[in-house]
Amino acid sequence: MLANKNDKKTDLEALGEFGLIDHLTKNFAPSQASTEKGVGDDGAVLHLKNRTVISTDFLIEGVHFDLSYMPLKHLGYKSVIVNLSDIYAMNAIATQILVSIAVSNRFPLEALEELYQGIALATKKYEVDLIGGDTSSSKTGMLISITALGEAKAEEIAYRAGARANDLLVVSGDLGAAYMGLQVLEREKEVFKVNPNNQPDLEPYSYIVERQLKPEARKDIVELLKKLEVKPTAMIDISDGLSSEILHLCKQSHVGCNLFEDKIPLDPTVIAACEEFKLDSTLVALSGGEDYELLFTINQKDFPKIKGNPNFTVIGHMTEAGEGAHLVTRGNSKIPLTAQGWNSFPS
Ligand code: ADP
Ligand code: MG
Repeated sequence: MLANKNDKKTDLEALGEFGLIDHLTKNFAPSQASTEKGVGDDGAVLHLKNRTVISTDFLIEGVHFDLSYMPLKHLGYKSVIVNLSDIYAMNAIATQILVSIAVSNRFPLEALEELYQGIALATKKYEVDLIGGDTSSSKTGMLISITALGEAKAEEIAYRAGARANDLLVVSGDLGAAYMGLQVLEREKEVFKVNPNNQPDLEPYSYIVERQLKPEARKDIVELLKKLEVKPTAMIDISDGLSSEILHLCKQSHVGCNLFEDKIPLDPTVIAACEEFKLDSTLVALSGGEDYELLFTINQKDFPKIKGNPNFTVIGHMTEAGEGAHLVTRGNSKIPLTAQGWNSFPS
């Protein structure tokens, strides 16, 4: 649907592996104080002063992304974002990334330039250095593996295991938009297959499509919590959906949870799209995924510090483990949470 804007096509083989690496990475000068040596040697050299947080993610064409509606620049951007999100979810600040790619010869140099433009945009915005990676060929699709590093003081790190009974459950931003954006894009892809001349009007869906194609990671929330002097007792980022992330917190912290359906933050455009697609907006928020918001727990004594802040919504509270994890519906019934959303038939 979204064709390569450049008509020029340079064969990757013409450059060779080293020429390609040089070409793609030449504009990535390190800016972090902790980077002593970035791209260009057998290994990068870092000088980190605090605890180091590391996380890695694989993105595989056809599994994690679909190039028929994902422009490569957006893909590069999003690949970085999903990794940075994991670092922020530890309450750390991301500092460096490594990017490894495997591509088949169906991609010209110009396509990889677009991918790296997106990567560059994310590294600039989030102030992280690209310090290395690996480049290989692939027989079929494109594979991207990114490793992100970050720093935090030992006492600042927020693990999944730290939530306690009576802690408040808080989420940043709003939920379900990325999933509804995907529904719109998939629908347009089907329409396009039937009629390639049909130009989709995505304007009414711009927020949700953008949340799918160009998500952001909540570095601002980590900084805001620090400023407000709130240390989350536990934290996780929402990559798979609210319910599965809540269950991770519950399991690792050995607590239960009451999540209140009427508190789940939803953008009006998500509600409208759910109506159009005949989907339950609560289920979309619980199971949709890819929102990259932060879900965390705080001690009740910290509530006054976040109260009324538009970045945060208190959506529930933790309980003793024996009470289990439940959704308290608008109708005030209690339904067990499952990784897929909820069990509509309580046992
Ligand atoms: P080696 O043969 O030692 O693995 P390479 O020739 O693969 O070294 O890489 C040379 C330099 O370029 C290294 O600093 C490596 O980290 C970096 N690099 C390789 N591929 C990429 C990539 N796709 N993105 C960013 N840096 C890369
Ligand atoms: Mg290598």
